[in-house]
Amino acid sequence: MIALMFGPPGSGKGTQASRVALRLGVPHVATGDMLRSEVARNTPLGHEAKPIMDAGGLVPDDLVVRMIEARLNQADARGGVLLDGFPRTVPQAVTLDAMLEKRSEHVAEVISLEVPADELKARILKRATTEGRSDDTAVGLAQRLVVYRQETEPVLEHYRDAGTRIEAINGVGGIDAITDRILQALRHNGAPVASS
Ligand code: AMP
Repeated sequence: MIALMFGPPGSGKGTQASRVALRLGVPHVATGDMLRSEVARNTPLGHEAKPIMDAGGLVPDDLVVRMIEARLNQADARGGVLLDGFPRTVPQAVTLDAMLEKRSEHVAEVISLEVPADELKARILKRATTEGRSDDTAVGLAQRLVVYRQETEPVLEHYRDAGTRIEAINGVGGIDAITDRILQALRHNGAPVASS
């Protein structure tokens, strides 16, 4: 099954996506992690992406789309994936849909984590002290939230208009409790969730 983990910066989508992917038995494919790995390996793509990421902007669609296309063509992605941080713009969503259609696949489910803005800010500033991500600064966060509202939220509308199932999940609470909420919603929709 192809599912998307959707949510603003700091909503916990990376944490939840890695746990939920394990239970669905599909790879967790996170464009933010893939880009950070390009930066760490000093690749040309990493060089191009780093200043944009640090400023809280979006890396150009064509670069991210190429990266995702290569990832979806790998053998372990044939049985489905849980995408995290992609698509982040409507053009990325349109390209993804076309890519999947060629393989007679589609996005089956969007999991949308909902967290109030005050809580997002507190979480990101806390993460800045523990994980040392170079975009976890007050300025970086403010910009990422603006970009999220302008560029990424319309992706949810894109899938709503397409009739894709969207599960709104309360993203406030303990990590286990939130995972349980997501798994319960997926099970309810008939997704093959393995027991832990
Ligand atoms: P994340 O780990 O998902 O918060 O992503 C960190 C940063 O990577 C974002 O703020 C963007 O600069 C960049 N990024 C990740 N995914 C995408 C995407 N799908 N499109 C454009 N930029 C992205």
